[in-house]
Formats: sequence, C-alpha cells, structure tokens
Amino acid sequence: MSAAANPTAFKPPPETATLIDALTADGAEVRFVGGCVRDFVLGRSVQDIDLATDARPERVMALLAKADIKVVPTGVEHGTVTAVIAGRKFEVTTLRRDVETDGRHAVVEFGTDWLEDAARRDFTFNAMSMTPDGALYDPFHGKKDLIDGRVRFVGEASQRVREDVLRILRWFRFYAHYGKPPLDESALSACKGFAFRLPDLSGERVRHELLRLLDAPNPLPSIELMIETNVMDAVLGRGRSAQGLTRLRGIEDANFASPDPVLRLAALIGTHGAVAPLSTRLRLSNNERDRLDQALAAEPALGAQASQNDRQNAIYKYGAKPLRDRVLLAWSAAPTEPAWKEWLQELDAFSPPKFPLEGRDLTALGIPEGPEIGDLLRQVETWWVSQSFAPDREACLSHLANIRQTNRVTLSGDGS
Ligand code: ATP
Ligand code: MG
Repeated sequence: MSAAANPTAFKPPPETATLIDALTADGAEVRFVGGCVRDFVLGRSVQDIDLATDARPERVMALLAKADIKVVPTGVEHGTVTAVIAGRKFEVTTLRRDVETDGRHAVVEFGTDWLEDAARRDFTFNAMSMTPDGALYDPFHGKKDLIDGRVRFVGEASQRVREDVLRILRWFRFYAHYGKPPLDESALSACKGFAFRLPDLSGERVRHELLRLLDAPNPLPSIELMIETNVMDAVLGRGRSAQGLTRLRGIEDANFASPDPVLRLAALIGTHGAVAPLSTRLRLSNNERDRLDQALAAEPALGAQASQNDRQNAIYKYGAKPLRDRVLLAWSAAPTEPAWKEWLQELDAFSPPKFPLEGRDLTALGIPEGPEIGDLLRQVETWWVSQSFAPDREACLSHLANIRQTNRVTLSGDGS
C-alpha cells in the first residue's frame, strides 16, 4: 500500500500498511470491512481493523508467514485468521457465502465475489467495504443509514434473523451505538418475533453482545426497547426494569464517569439472587461474577449518615473499587440522598495508608510464631484505624507494648 494512495482522513495504525503489503504481494485483493469502515465514515478515530480478502485462508496464512507476520488460525473454518504485528491484532477473513444456516451456525463456502460477501453481512452499514486506496463500496446504501442512525438488515429482516438469531442482539447493540429515531420497524418486529429462539444461543455470544451494548455512551433507548419487546426476558430473565440503569446513567453524566458495562449490568440485574444463575448462563468471567456479587450483596451496608471516619474505615476494609460500585448503586436507588456524593468524593480523595507493622516486627520482639501474632496485629490495626490511620510505626509499637502489658496483667490477675 503506497502512502500516497492512503487517504489522509483514514488513519489506520501504521502496522496496517505492512499487513496489506504482505496480503497483496501475489495479487490478492484486500479491503477494509466492519467497524473501521463505520468509524471512517463517521469521522471517528479508527479502533480495530478487520480486513476481507479474496485469498483463501491457507493462502492468507502462507502470505503472512512469508512476510514473517505472526498468524493465529482463530476461526479458520469460517475463513478468519488473526494476524499479529507489534502486539496489534488484525482479523483477516476470506470472502464467503453462507450456504446453510440453522439459526446458530452457518456452513460457509469461500468465494471471490465481493457483492455476495456483502450480502451475507448483517446490516447495511456493516456491508460496506473500502479499498486500501480509499474507494468506498456501499452496495446497500449503508453510509446513508449510518448517518441517519438507521440499523437496517441487508435483505428481508425476518429471513436474516431466522438464519442467525444472534443478529437480534447485534441489532440492539448497533442500535445502542448508532441508532436514532425513527427506528426500522421491520427490523424491530423481526427481533421481537424470533426472541423465543434466543435461549438457543451460547452464553458466551450473549455475554459478548450484551457487554458491547452496555458499553455504548447511552444504552438506555436500546435497553428499553429490549424490555418492551420481551427480548430482555430471554437475555436476563423476566421482570427487568430500566429504572436502576436510568438513574445510574444520570449519575454517570453528572460525575463525568465513562461507560462501565459490568456496573451497568449490575444496575440492570438489580438483585443479588440473580447473580449466580446469570453468571452461569452468560458464562461471565470470574472477575465479572465477583464484581456483580460484591456490588449487589447485602453486606456491607453503606450508611448514608456515615462520618468521614466511617467512610475511610470502610474504604480501608473493603477496598475502593468494590465500594465505588456499591456507592453508585446505592445512589441509583436513592438519587436525592446527598451523602452519596460525599462517599464518591471520599473514594476519589482517600487512598488508605499502609498499616505500619508486619508479622516480622512481632517475631523480632521475641513473640513466637503462631496465632498470637495475628491476634496482636489485628488488635493494633483496629486501634490504628480508629485513630484515623494517624499513628506511625513507633506509636503502633508502643501500643503493642501496652496491649501485651495489659494481657500479662490480666493473665497473672486471673491466675492469682
Ligand atoms: P466491532 O468490531 O466494533 O464489534 P464489527 O462490525 O467489526 O464491529 P464484528 O463482530 O467484528 O463487528 O464483525 C465484523 C463484520 O462481520 C461485521 O461488520 C459484519 O459485516 C459481519 N458479521 C459479524 N457477525 C455477523 C452475523 N452474525 N451475521 C452477519 N454478519 C456478521
Ligand atoms: Mg470488528
């Protein structure tokens, strides 16, 4: 790819040129597809790069190997390999045609026809492709739909959803990121009509789409539509309301917080009892599950009336991260309570100091290894926390001496 041929407005990462040079070395054709073309059309900075090519996967792998580019056959049976250059990943997919679809999986055939490849893609703006020289191919007028905020299926909506019900969730995901009213009614009614088949989807795929959806600057219109059409019943179970998320959104805006999909999911789930079954169904990672678990658990209760000392103690004991989730959810539940703002400020401002003593300080004093060390350390630490973390190492050691003295007196008193 010559530098001059690359349009100035499109700024893919520099490794892209190396990749395209490798892929086109023996005459194959390569185009940009997917998210990077949408970003380019909307003038947003380009994130991930997906490429399509008329070269078959084996040839793609050979071309990359010849150029010393690392390649991982991530989905080679569907025509996708991942090229890795300087730690950056690029997906390269061979043009294809779906010959058989059962709602979940497709049998694919590789091809060389760009229009056929565009026709099997989900939405009109996802069927655009762009050559390395910057020529945009837009067979289904996706550019206009993207600018208008219309998420429209390529072809007949219900047919496309029947072929692959994941497209329901993809529709809501893309609506959350790009949609503007009026929405495409035929698409929405197809999504509603096939929602009953969503339980067939693997949890991983549902999780992926849901978290991408919740990462949109404002996912609410899409979430509300999912609830209205009963699509949400199949994703997170019945009885979900958008109220908690609506309030959380308000707090995020007022505090310039960036989207946090897992916290938003917690607001949407709303109850601790739903965390375990949903974590299993959606195959959430252990980190995601633990975060939801802590965010929605009954304990520790956060007092709106807590003093600064109470707040700092809680931050020391439970950690700022899990507490922030709890504060934001408590605030969403009681949006007019002013104390939550103070909690948030405390979480931003206060980083707990390190407790000045360690076990080895006690062994150095001749205290034998064993449970007594832990007990003594905890007693001094409790005192240190109650003194607003102010006592230094010296003061902690002298408090330790006091405790030991008292213990000795008590013991000898008991014995007499
Ligand atoms: P992003 O990478 O930002 O999630 P994307 O559009 O690149 O957005 P991918 O999931 O990476 O989305 O898919 C790349 C392209 O593959 C899409 O733009 C679309 O053309 C096509 N595609 C992905 N999944 C489907 C599907 N289930 N049905 C039809 N086409 C799909
Ligand atoms: Mg992509």
